Amino acid sequence: MRIIATKKRIINMRPSILYSLFYPIENLAGVGKRYAGLLSSLCGNRVIDLLWHLPSSIIDRRCNTALINAQNGQIWSGKIKVIEHVAPKTKKQPYRIVVEDSTEQLVLVFFKTYGDTLSKTLPVGAEKIISGKIEIFNGSLTMAHPDYIIDTSNASSFPQIEPVYPLTAGISNKLLNKLTSQALGLVPFLPEWLDGNILEQNKWPDFNTALQTAHRPQDIRQITPSAPARQRLAYDEMLANQLALAIVRRKMKHQKGRSIQANGVLRQKIINVLPFKLTKAQQRVIAEIDCDMAAPYRMSRLLQGDVGSGKTIVALLTMLNAVECGYQAAIMAPTEILAQQHYETISELCKKTGIQTELLTGNIKGKKRTQILEQLAEGNINILVGTHALFTDNVQFKNLAYAIIDEQHRFGVNQRLNLSAKGYLCDILVMTATPIPRTLVLTQFGDMEYSKIDELPSGRKPVNTTVINLSKINDITEALKRKLSSSSTQAYWVCPLVEESEKIDLSAAKERFESLQKIFGNQVGLVHGKMKETEKNAVMDLFKQGTLKLLVSTTVIEVGVNVPNATVMIIEHAERFGLAQLHQLRGRIKRGNEESHCILMYGYPISQTARERLETLRKTEDGFEIAEKDLELRGGGEVLGTRQTGFMSFRLADLSVHSDLLYTANKEAELILNKDPELKSERGMNLRTLMYLFERDEAIRTYNAG
Ligand code: ADP
Ligand code: MG
Repeated sequence: MRIIATKKRIINMRPSILYSLFYPIENLAGVGKRYAGLLSSLCGNRVIDLLWHLPSSIIDRRCNTALINAQNGQIWSGKIKVIEHVAPKTKKQPYRIVVEDSTEQLVLVFFKTYGDTLSKTLPVGAEKIISGKIEIFNGSLTMAHPDYIIDTSNASSFPQIEPVYPLTAGISNKLLNKLTSQALGLVPFLPEWLDGNILEQNKWPDFNTALQTAHRPQDIRQITPSAPARQRLAYDEMLANQLALAIVRRKMKHQKGRSIQANGVLRQKIINVLPFKLTKAQQRVIAEIDCDMAAPYRMSRLLQGDVGSGKTIVALLTMLNAVECGYQAAIMAPTEILAQQHYETISELCKKTGIQTELLTGNIKGKKRTQILEQLAEGNINILVGTHALFTDNVQFKNLAYAIIDEQHRFGVNQRLNLSAKGYLCDILVMTATPIPRTLVLTQFGDMEYSKIDELPSGRKPVNTTVINLSKINDITEALKRKLSSSSTQAYWVCPLVEESEKIDLSAAKERFESLQKIFGNQVGLVHGKMKETEKNAVMDLFKQGTLKLLVSTTVIEVGVNVPNATVMIIEHAERFGLAQLHQLRGRIKRGNEESHCILMYGYPISQTARERLETLRKTEDGFEIAEKDLELRGGGEVLGTRQTGFMSFRLADLSVHSDLLYTANKEAELILNKDPELKSERGMNLRTLMYLFERDEAIRTYNAG
């Protein structure tokens, strides 16, 4: 028994072969506190961080033509003879040294350098090898501060091809070259974890060679992301990521859960009263969820569907499975307004079915709250609608079997694992309207099953989107005035977003509100993030009822709010918003029967990428196309809005160029775990090393837990 226990512990620790790579960076010669600090913000504070910090370009020092053929701006290397020193006459002048090869003279220029040092390194008459950048001034060749000055006997001691690293102030490329050389020296020989076929097909080197080549390229082509060495490293990283997620996913599948097999009687009752027919896509994802719920393990599924694709009804119809089998279900929204809206939809549909629904948010307090909590604990409430806070507060269900988290793509893998740690051992469905590109689904949600509503209910008219300059604001308000006074149309006016300053956001919104009040009088309302929920709800209610025709807001209306007559949206300083955010905002006014209009007003300065964003929006309403563009313009962490919260970023892989490799890694992870679910074979052990190397070992620890 004891031996097994020990063995298990050893298996689940970072293998000692990797220790040297995780040493603090200060262990390297030449790194003191100051450099350690700078390096830490540049790449990280361990040896491995330095190894993952790859060069972005090279300096080719192989050019050693005769000086007479040297070109302006060229890096030139070669043997020279020192002719004379010209000391500066004033403090401002540089120190000059004239040198030559057999064809031409060259003036070496030194600023703030003392003659006596230079007469030691470059004494008159000496022959040296130098390397540096040639500049031509008034027809004569100069070189300011050569990069290398070396004795001819040491000719081979400077790099012919020098990698150029991304730098930060205070860290020179020379230093990084020295340090990466040391770090490379610490890399142990690591046994191969990749399949022989894949190596052969792609002509990939082994890991050690790949790392060496990536840091010491011999050719500019070896710097590109499609170079074999770079591909191999990117693949290693993505395989580690995919294995980790696949392990967690399998683990979930093997956790015992309830088998919820409903006969669909309740569902049919609701379908009978729906004023529309479910789309094919809705039917398909409902079937997928049914199947998961019926199986005797816990469901963990991501449901993606663009704004307006009809996720709420999917949520309700699948919650009925749980209700029919005598369990409770809950749906949680990110804001009170959204929770309220879900509650209205759901309770209205459930009215004549005998299904008990209830709303619980932070605003419901005192006696009413106590009552709801009692009813919930006794099991008299079948479906609870609430805010995300439900998960954190001490809300006791009698038998919660199914929890839906709406609009919550900001949850990282670890947070999702936490949910179950809190004792909610129920089936989980995470719904998001943020279109997430396939690559991000794989890398960020690879631990979950995945459904997608890829079709909008038929007959939806496109939103007319116009992009215009802010200087036209008076024309806009005039047009808006005509529109709002002649019909039941309502409009949103979204105020500029000021990065990192809620205060300025707020005052901008208030100012706009006041100026619009002069035109629209008491038909205009204001909501912003700093208002109390009750105040916000009151304004929203007036807007929903149509008492208010124009709603000025900061981005609080971003997700999910549904007001049928609101078919116009004006977004001020649209250039400051992200693509996904604009897409979500615009989704609020998309209607089946009526034309809707979105006006994106931009101000100056406007960057090239901001222009591209607005242009993308004008051209398309396809959320997935928009998401792909967003990914291209900004990168994964930004797209999900999760840079701070558990976004798993890559050090070596770049999803915009390595997505094919990601799909391969995804498939391979499956194959590997099918053959060797616990990673116990020889290759399995090597793959564990890979996961430790890329710090995806959290998943390995789940092996321990049972
Ligand atoms: P979202 O996916 O953005 O949460 P909702 O569930 O709020 O979308 O649905 C948006 C609107 O579309 C609602 O008014 C809803 O009643 C309606 N809807 C949902 N499914 C269909 C359908 N199959 N056909 C027509 N309208 C539908
Ligand atoms: Mg919704």
